[in-house]
Amino acid sequence: MITHADSAASNAEVIALAAAHEIGVYARQPVAFVRGRGCELWDADGRRYLDFFAGLAVTNLGHCHPAVVQAIHTQADRLLHVSNHYHTVPAAELTALLCRHSFAERVFLCNSGAEANEAAMKLARRWGADRGGGRYEILATTGSFHGRTFATLTATGQEKYQRGFQPLLPGVRLVPYDDLAAMAAAVRDETVAIIVEPIQGEGGVIVPLPGYLPGLRELADRRDLLLVLDEVQSGLGRTGRLFAYEHAGVTPDIMTLAKALGGGIPIGAMCARAEIATVFTPGAHGTTFGGNPVACAAAVAAVDALARPELLAHVRELGVYFRERLEHLAERHDMIRQVRGLGLMLGAELDRPGTPIVERCLQGGLVINCTAERVLRFLPPLVITRAELDEGLAILERALAG
Ligand code: PLP
Repeated sequence: MITHADSAASNAEVIALAAAHEIGVYARQPVAFVRGRGCELWDADGRRYLDFFAGLAVTNLGHCHPAVVQAIHTQADRLLHVSNHYHTVPAAELTALLCRHSFAERVFLCNSGAEANEAAMKLARRWGADRGGGRYEILATTGSFHGRTFATLTATGQEKYQRGFQPLLPGVRLVPYDDLAAMAAAVRDETVAIIVEPIQGEGGVIVPLPGYLPGLRELADRRDLLLVLDEVQSGLGRTGRLFAYEHAGVTPDIMTLAKALGGGIPIGAMCARAEIATVFTPGAHGTTFGGNPVACAAAVAAVDALARPELLAHVRELGVYFRERLEHLAERHDMIRQVRGLGLMLGAELDRPGTPIVERCLQGGLVINCTAERVLRFLPPLVITRAELDEGLAILERALAG
């Protein structure tokens, strides 16, 4: 047994302990991280890594951002939990902050991206029942990822995640992504909402055509549908705007957030227009830990930092630089078929499975990820410097060369 005080535990010891006790739903890389700072991580054997993954788009401010850590310490000394039977200062501040920085007028706080999307789907159904003439059907898209609960899994248009879990939720239908005509044709009398990611993350960093989100907005307005944007991965500065919908010049009716919201602490949020949110009356929905004071204090500090115009400008600038460097790599390495993405949400599609490259990068001291089997995904902390990008790209180039 490794105790918390036993700082001498090695990677191998941690991995063996986990392997003997965990339910094996994760295909983990063979490394145990013990410390992080900014864009750097250290493993249990004392080895340093550069992080181009940010804990799957969570540590957008870098590891252990001082303002987030300070907010957690301060709040942990004051109050850890009281339940949603009562108000707390951090939760009230966070909902106000999210409304100040977005289209939203009302916010429901929860604990994860799946829960935020689950809440959005329930809100859409309740709105359909109360105001929408009894409509209930939700249209989602192929290639999407919205979470692992039954409702969000049903809206997740990837067979590999759904296999063995049928029957799924009735009243949810999948339509091809980035296909306005298909979406328009799919709307029928029962349809109440459309849920999409502004950029598909898990699906392979798929950026839709510029007219897609405005077209969905127009369709939703014309057919009296709710437009739900899942910004769990694309939101909170990742694309160089606080929310990805800002690039398209349209606003959703409902937006979901999680991942980077808590600066590394679990939290989710469903943000909505007031008129829609009113159908969620007392008792209609809830969760014990939603709005937890420590998570909210961390999130207030994180959103404050993520919304700074200079940080967002830095993401846009370094996003262009990173993309150009990846395009140069693509010229030298035939295995890279396409480079795509926005801001610091970038992907390089390969002509082969990406896992061996991810493993070689890790061996070289760089943390990256592969999604949709062949897409190397780059989600570095948004505070990354040009020098750190260069250092990581040199490791990537060596990994590509084999
Ligand atoms: N929505 C999107 C776009 C995601 O990328 C994810 C997770 O990767 C989720 C929802 C689910 O979030 P969580 O894992 O916090 O439930």
